[in-house]
Amino acid sequence: MQFYSTNDVTHRVSVEEAIFRGLPADKGLYMPERIDPLPASFFRELPELSFTEIGFRVTRQLLGDEINDTDLRTIVEGAINFPAPVVQLDEQKYVLELFHGPSLAFKDFGARFMSRLMGYYNRGKEHELIILVATSGDTGGAVAAGFYDTPGIQVVILYPSGKVSALQEKQLTTLGKNIHALEIDGTFDDCQAIVKQAFLDAPLRERLRLSSANSINISRLIPQTFYYFEAVKQLGIAGDPIAFCVPSGNFGNLTAGLIARQLGLPIHHFIAATNQNDVVPRFLTSGTYDVKPSIPTLSNAMDVGAPSNFARMVNLFGHLDGKQTIAANTHTDLQDILSGYSFDDQTTESAVREVEQQYGYTIDPHGAVGYLALDAWQNTHPATRGVILETAHPSKFKPDVERILGHPIHVPQRLAELADKEKVAHPFAASYLPIKEWLLATFGV
Ligand SMILES: *Cc1c(COP(=O)(O)O)cnc(C)c1O
Repeated sequence: MQFYSTNDVTHRVSVEEAIFRGLPADKGLYMPERIDPLPASFFRELPELSFTEIGFRVTRQLLGDEINDTDLRTIVEGAINFPAPVVQLDEQKYVLELFHGPSLAFKDFGARFMSRLMGYYNRGKEHELIILVATSGDTGGAVAAGFYDTPGIQVVILYPSGKVSALQEKQLTTLGKNIHALEIDGTFDDCQAIVKQAFLDAPLRERLRLSSANSINISRLIPQTFYYFEAVKQLGIAGDPIAFCVPSGNFGNLTAGLIARQLGLPIHHFIAATNQNDVVPRFLTSGTYDVKPSIPTLSNAMDVGAPSNFARMVNLFGHLDGKQTIAANTHTDLQDILSGYSFDDQTTESAVREVEQQYGYTIDPHGAVGYLALDAWQNTHPATRGVILETAHPSKFKPDVERILGHPIHVPQRLAELADKEKVAHPFAASYLPIKEWLLATFGV
């Protein structure tokens, strides 16, 4: 299997290059050259398949035959060592819990899979690999946990000072060893811009083996397709049609869902749920794609003004023509499969309370935005089963959730232990050059 750039479909690279480069030089995003539907036999067998067997077969379909069965199984089984259970709220509403991994957020799937795939390709390489990541909250924690103590790999995480929760910050800054946290005086978009600048800096890349771990890395999207299959398996492929409601920021999760559908999974509809950073819902209604600086909200892992996976979504519909323009019919074609809703913090807070009162379920603010969007969509589509992706455990946003609910909530042991660990972070202004110098001083050869 080869991968092309969304900005130039004739530019082809190997799996290994797509994963280590992260971002093509033309600023596009890598996509697999083919996403062929899985065979009918796969869907017949689906009810009997384990989560990791699903992962193995889906990865085989997306990567082709370049990694042998034994190694590929080791990668998938090492990465996916926790479940993704579907919990029923009522007759037509379900929650897919994606927070059973080490950092209690769905990003564990991508980070653990990517670290193992990179580890596989990194065997026998002479120089260390430097993973550079910008995080608005959960990416960093998942990447830190996923790559911790991986031989030959150093991880540098940029996060916006004061804009991630106290626990998220602890997840980034307390591991030590090969995990380095840079605390940036700026926004998530500043962090993301600095990371992009580093990747496009040819002299820097001559001296450092750099790679990314953001949702721009194609290897993160692959395991995020697995749980759409796993959810459909648990719900039963027969029965009412199924829609997925995806709380979204950079739209990696939603893009993975579109890929799962292209692999043949019968998904009737997608619902993009955002907070007030609503560039995609606005595009879906107006046809105008209008990026904005991000606004801080309660669901801070979705505070993204310029969603990085948008180019992939458009590309999946065959509407990015290599000139970085969006064809006129894109938003109408997308509307057939995707609806968008956005909600403010006040409405989100009442949804957290409503989900507790009506269903006895504690939902986090990101999932609550999803709940609102699904509820709105189901008003006109009552016969479709809806699955909300619960992207993080509510205890990751403990102060907010406890304030909203007015009582203490359960905190899993692995998160509670973090509170006593000491933060270690390097403070930086939001500008590229000092960070480049630090990278060269710390890792340059
Ligand atoms: C990252 C994140 C999101 C947004 O996911 P995207 O794939 O960037 O759209 C939503 N919720 C939580 C809790 C997250 O950490």
